[in-house]
Amino acid sequence: MGEEGQNYTAFNSRSLVEMVGNVTDEALKATKIKQFLSVLAGRFFNWTGRKSLFTLHLGIKCCAIEMAASATPRFDAERFGVIFRSSPRQSDVLLVNGPVTKKFADPIVRLWEQMPEPKYCIAMGECAISGGPYFQSYNILEGVDTVIPVDVYIPGCPPRPEALIDGFGKLREKIIRIGGVPSQERSDDKPIIIGDE
Ligand code: SF4
Repeated sequence: MGEEGQNYTAFNSRSLVEMVGNVTDEALKATKIKQFLSVLAGRFFNWTGRKSLFTLHLGIKCCAIEMAASATPRFDAERFGVIFRSSPRQSDVLLVNGPVTKKFADPIVRLWEQMPEPKYCIAMGECAISGGPYFQSYNILEGVDTVIPVDVYIPGCPPRPEALIDGFGKLREKIIRIGGVPSQERSDDKPIIIGDE
């Protein structure tokens, strides 16, 4: 006999899904398959992520011309899995390629926050790294790293498309090394400077 007032006919689909889920979960835990699947899925997502780095299609100033050149047939960044996308919600990499004005600081942080984890930031050119020719100007940030954590710095004014492609290659090596660690948990990890190896 059950508890008084209990409705035995109310065995809905949700209860069925929960019951099957619990039984499957227990069975997977008992056979260590769950652990195996989780390691396998982690490796698989790391591999797919680093082989197709979706990059936010954001052009700020003259370095953006080099970014555009890297996507042309002569350099063809796409053959290395660098694919430019127009929505932050589909992007893995924020490529900052020009001076960030103080007025643009909030919008660029909003774009960064709209990107899903794990996400990465590349500062391309002197302007994005330190303000460049506008260093200590009244309205330009002294580097995008004052508002967003940067993973790779690519110096130059402007850096060539080959340097940009090299930057993505170094970022890929970093992803192999650290796995899919979210950006807030990578503060101890030293950023990469292209040309400083
Ligand atoms: S680093 Fe040089 S080329 Fe790049 S945006 Fe600044 S001024 Fe232009």
